[in-house]
Amino acid sequence: MTTTRPAPRIPDFQGELIGPADAAYETFRRCFNRDHDQHPALVARCTSPQDVRAALRHARENSLGVSVRGGGHATAGFASCEGGIVVDTSPMKRVEIDTEARTGRFGAGLTWGELDAATQESGLAVTGGRVSDTGVAGLTLGSGSGWLERMYGPSAWNMLSAEVMTADGRILHADETENADLFWGLRGGGGNFGVVTEFGFRLHPVGPLLYAGMLLHPRSAAGPLTRFYRDFLEQAPDEVTGGIALITAPPEDFVPEEARGKPAVGVIVAYIGDPARGEDVLKPLVEWGEPLVRMVQQMPYTAVQRMLDDGTPTGVSEYFKIDYLPELLDEALDTAIAQVESVTAPMTQVIFCPLGGEMDRLDAGAMALATPPVKWVYFCLTVWWGDEGRGRHIDWARGFHTAMRPWTTGTSVPNFICPDEGARLRASFGPEKYARLVALKDRYDPGNVFALNQNIPPSG
Ligand SMILES: Cc1cc2nc3c(=O)[nH]c(=O)nc-3n(C[C@H](O)[C@H](O)[C@H](O)COP(=O)(O)OP(=O)(O)OC[C@H]3O[C@@H](n4cnc5c(N)ncnc54)[C@H](O)[C@@H]3O)c2cc1C
Repeated sequence: MTTTRPAPRIPDFQGELIGPADAAYETFRRCFNRDHDQHPALVARCTSPQDVRAALRHARENSLGVSVRGGGHATAGFASCEGGIVVDTSPMKRVEIDTEARTGRFGAGLTWGELDAATQESGLAVTGGRVSDTGVAGLTLGSGSGWLERMYGPSAWNMLSAEVMTADGRILHADETENADLFWGLRGGGGNFGVVTEFGFRLHPVGPLLYAGMLLHPRSAAGPLTRFYRDFLEQAPDEVTGGIALITAPPEDFVPEEARGKPAVGVIVAYIGDPARGEDVLKPLVEWGEPLVRMVQQMPYTAVQRMLDDGTPTGVSEYFKIDYLPELLDEALDTAIAQVESVTAPMTQVIFCPLGGEMDRLDAGAMALATPPVKWVYFCLTVWWGDEGRGRHIDWARGFHTAMRPWTTGTSVPNFICPDEGARLRASFGPEKYARLVALKDRYDPGNVFALNQNIPPSG
């Protein structure tokens, strides 16, 4: 139950404490996904590891549930809670880049837009999310799938170190040599083991200009276009990235008036390398058919990273189903195209993204993250405003997932698994990795203080 009493003071806490009586409460109690309407007792905006320690101690002494916030984007609403404390790491935005070593240390509170802006000053980048206001913390701990993954692997793979506050208030450094077991678990095991206050990443030369952009075709082209896209991408070098999306054409000026609000196919293209070479390589895709919109040109990498931002504006409600496809067979494409005919929320997006490249080469045993040997992943994100039609939209996404099941692995990664899918989470890690994660949980969080996440419960 929440009260309107002033937020309590917490000894040794230097950041901001926001309770239900504070004007800022309405903003900070919410997460990105408005479908979750939660009322924490307190939001502790932490500015340092010491603040995190003090907030966790306060939770322990007052028997409060703990939710940990990075960018607040978890679709499942984990960035807030009912009646507990939000340990908000978003004020921690330190950046330190070693351009020669191509490494960086980054505060856990950065968004990908902020991290990209900082690393691009030196022409460097690390794989980040496809939407710029997603948090570095949650995305990295739960996988980190983005446009750069075919070249450089997911964010978790690029993690070099982490500073972690454990449930009992210890600050641990974790990397390949120090607390290596914890480091392994943080790379894909989600927020189960502690509060990360800082990440170390390997950086790569990217941009600053890339040949990239988007095409929009009428939905009538979906059959041949999706097949062409699949065949093109499966032969393309690792530098080629992007996705093909079954969407409704947005009501934007750049879309011809007669196409706005009509079923369409969007194609995101990007070449992670020399822009002139990219123009050459992408030509067959860019010149395919008669698109309604062809906006492909040299653009900053930071703009590529923001290309999808408008598809999920702040304040929307959303629900997702995501799965892997070993092969993208014609039957799977036809099923997806048929399913989106009955979409209930016009802002819904079904995106197929190519994997392969570094995703096939990386040493999957070196991290908790499961990276199945598959060629494709789909993201089915249903998006709507307010409460109208909520049940129908969720049922539609579940129906899509079921209809696609003959061609999918049925697995995913923590970032994309709903809270009611504990069995799918276990299956996704596989028995060996899951057993190792439970052993880590027993060691670092036996009391399951960090339970409001894609939870791996301790064995006890
Ligand atoms: C519009 C949209 C687009 C997305 N696009 C992508 C994408 O392209 N690629 C991709 O991989 N994912 C994507 N996601 C999913 C996203 O990665 C996850 O939702 C992720 O958890 C968000 O991280 P966050 O820090 O913003 O979330 P939060 O809600 O703040 O945190 C999510 C969980 O992460 C953990 N966590 C957060 N901060 C910390 C911390 N400092 N220490 C320890 N644990 C912490 C906690 O367990 C928390 O419950 C997208 C989500 C949305 C809503």
